[in-house]
Amino acid sequence: MAYLFQKLSNAITEPQVDIDQIPPSQTLVDCSGCTADCDDHPKYPSYLELDTTSDLLGSMKPYGRHVVIATGLSDWPEKIDQDTGSLAAALSKVINNDKEYTTKEPNGRIFITNSSLINQHSTVANGHDVLLLPDNLLIANVTPESAGAFFNTFLKGPLPAQPIHVPYLQHDLKHRSPSSPWTVQKLPYGSLVMICSHRKRDKRCGITAPILAREFDHCLRQRDIDEAGDQGTAILMCSHVGGHKFAGNIICYTHQGTRGIWYGRVQPCHCEQIVNETIIKGNIIKELYRGAMIHSYGPTDACLAKRIRW
Ligand SMILES: [Zn+2]
Repeated sequence: MAYLFQKLSNAITEPQVDIDQIPPSQTLVDCSGCTADCDDHPKYPSYLELDTTSDLLGSMKPYGRHVVIATGLSDWPEKIDQDTGSLAAALSKVINNDKEYTTKEPNGRIFITNSSLINQHSTVANGHDVLLLPDNLLIANVTPESAGAFFNTFLKGPLPAQPIHVPYLQHDLKHRSPSSPWTVQKLPYGSLVMICSHRKRDKRCGITAPILAREFDHCLRQRDIDEAGDQGTAILMCSHVGGHKFAGNIICYTHQGTRGIWYGRVQPCHCEQIVNETIIKGNIIKELYRGAMIHSYGPTDACLAKRIRW
């Protein structure tokens, strides 16, 4: 990997992104969003100061796992990792205190966000439903008090090399911690569109997110795509992902949650193409692409020569 990265770095000077964030060229499509004077789609307020010139590619901080916490809200305290008593703060503390993990990080950074997902499966007080990617799991009844055990059980181990066999995992959990209230199931959605809506962090995402969410909802309904099931797509609001100046910021999880595609500068005019190309076909819209969850594109996906650079 290091050799390939070096080779790639020599071939191009910038932007420098890790090899597995560069999708194979056959999955890249050019943006066909409407032009600026489109009358068919809603617009963002003109007072928003958005970056229209910096490089989007490589503008996100790489991570290996994403922990998505159900809160039923679409805005949160400015820094969720310092929100005392919350699951996000408890998990952040456990991860930061684990020197072995933070110094070696064989699996990359653990990315924690709150989300608008409603707790549907948790039954204990303070319990949250938690989505875990790329593991493609929903774990219920995760409490701030159980953050340490949750880290040891689900986050500290290696990233999954293949889809997880959920009945086996359930059996193993029951065997190892019979008193634990956690329940585990496969992610109940085929794909996810996560939109940064963290207004208390920066108003730009707070203003663009609801406009995008309505447009994505409209596009999915037009295609009869429901939320649940292997072909279903859920739209979630989420807390700060980084890069508010690139609002609207979204992450699309596809391919059983193993592929996490980051887009920035997303306008309502782009939603239809994102649904058609990225959610349905798995293609990447080049002009909006910021990067991906690590291992979204392994070196084995396609040979280096077939990858495009820009
Ligand atoms: Zn348009």
